[in-house]
Amino acid sequence: MIKRYLLLAGYIALVLFPAGFVFPSDTDLRYLLARIFALSGASLLLLQLPLAARFKWLERVYGLDKLMRFHLWTGIIGYCLITLHGTMILVYYWQFGWDVVVAFITPGWRWETLGLVSFLFITIIILITFIRRYSPKVPYHVWKWIHQFIYLGVLGGFFHSLFLGTQLTGGLLRWYWIGLGLLALYAFIHRRCIVPYKAKPYRVSDHQVIAKTVHHVILEPTAGAKLQHQPGQFIFVQFQSQGITKEWHPFTVSSAPSAQQLTLSMKTSGDWTQTLDQLAIGSHAKIEGPYGRFSYASIPPDDFGYVFVAGGIGITPLHSMITELLAQSSAKPMTLLYSARSVDDIAFKTEFDALAASHSNFKLVYVTGRIDQACLQKEIPEQLRQQYFICGPKPMMKAIVKCLHNLAVPTKQIHFEEFALN
Ligand SMILES: Cc1cc2nc3c(=O)[nH]c(=O)nc-3n(C[C@H](O)[C@H](O)[C@H](O)COP(=O)(O)OP(=O)(O)OC[C@H]3O[C@@H](n4cnc5c(N)ncnc54)[C@H](O)[C@@H]3O)c2cc1C
Repeated sequence: MIKRYLLLAGYIALVLFPAGFVFPSDTDLRYLLARIFALSGASLLLLQLPLAARFKWLERVYGLDKLMRFHLWTGIIGYCLITLHGTMILVYYWQFGWDVVVAFITPGWRWETLGLVSFLFITIIILITFIRRYSPKVPYHVWKWIHQFIYLGVLGGFFHSLFLGTQLTGGLLRWYWIGLGLLALYAFIHRRCIVPYKAKPYRVSDHQVIAKTVHHVILEPTAGAKLQHQPGQFIFVQFQSQGITKEWHPFTVSSAPSAQQLTLSMKTSGDWTQTLDQLAIGSHAKIEGPYGRFSYASIPPDDFGYVFVAGGIGITPLHSMITELLAQSSAKPMTLLYSARSVDDIAFKTEFDALAASHSNFKLVYVTGRIDQACLQKEIPEQLRQQYFICGPKPMMKAIVKCLHNLAVPTKQIHFEEFALN
């Protein structure tokens, strides 16, 4: 816990440190604000790269899903600050007349123009991001491809500030700025070269369709030992099979860490998962990870028992956790509330039925509809003492969390994971 706060404090210090150099100053307030916005906004944008670099030491503390959400929001804040920076500069030049403003924004071979072009470049990519968020017309992989070019805008902004920033012409701040730039460069190389290079080779040893449109795949390592992971963690996988593009997609390892085989259970949801029909047994795959903190192994072990609430394919991390706990002969009470559209949509049904029959501490409840407060009250013993793990569609998770809050379950006992990194 302390690491979380220390790292966050370090991050905030890195962002605010350059702005501290602006004071004391006798400059015009508008110009002063423009500088503060520029320095802190550019710091936030440069720090976007380490946040998304998949550094293990950072991921272990926060979990990749939370880091990516932080990346999104700090990116938005950074962009707003840069917008304010440009606005303040224009407001400042306005006092000298319209001609000066026009001359300022007219392209010429100057570092100012590089700043403006970089800003417009970033703006277009952010607009595409918003369009994709609210309209499925831009496929995820197309957006992802476009999004990586945002770093060209950040690079342009870096050189704009380095050669134009009044505070950056010399001294400690200039070295600090170069250091921040090098950190961003290292993060870029780590994410683009080191992470894919470290991916482990696997082979598809079995592929079945379980439940409705859930592809259950067994993977075996072709070199080295099976992946070490915690129950509930996810990996990125790339298949090398005809008819399937070589995109990397995140999937939870649905098997328990102690199981002999490593399995993924992937539901058809979009253009890429639709091609999984063509995944041939024997084809090669690459796995990168593990990631995530959605696991009972990430919380203190002195808990009373567990309640697992699954909606649809959200069962995968819970399957991993439940089978691991039972394999370790845990005597803690466990309840699984599993909501699916119909009985045909229930994955791992035979296995769960057998586990419930053979373990008196494992209670299994299938719900073909909504899990509501009455259901939680009826099915869960000792509600306030349990740790809750929830995974499923976002509206369902929100509703369950609300019900648990109504039942006065402490927030620290509620854990959930969304199957989205943005
Ligand atoms: C932590 C995590 C664990 C997951 N575990 C499972 C699981 O066990 N079983 C399962 O069926 N699904 C799981 N998913 C969801 C799975 O990753 C998506 O369903 C799949 O990638 C969809 O790809 P698509 O091209 O078919 O669909 P699209 O319609 O293109 O994408 C649907 C959504 O999936 C996400 N997505 C798509 N491609 C990527 C990508 N390359 N990288 C990151 N996110 C992407 C985006 O949020 C996108 O909006 C998990 C997702 C995450 C983030």
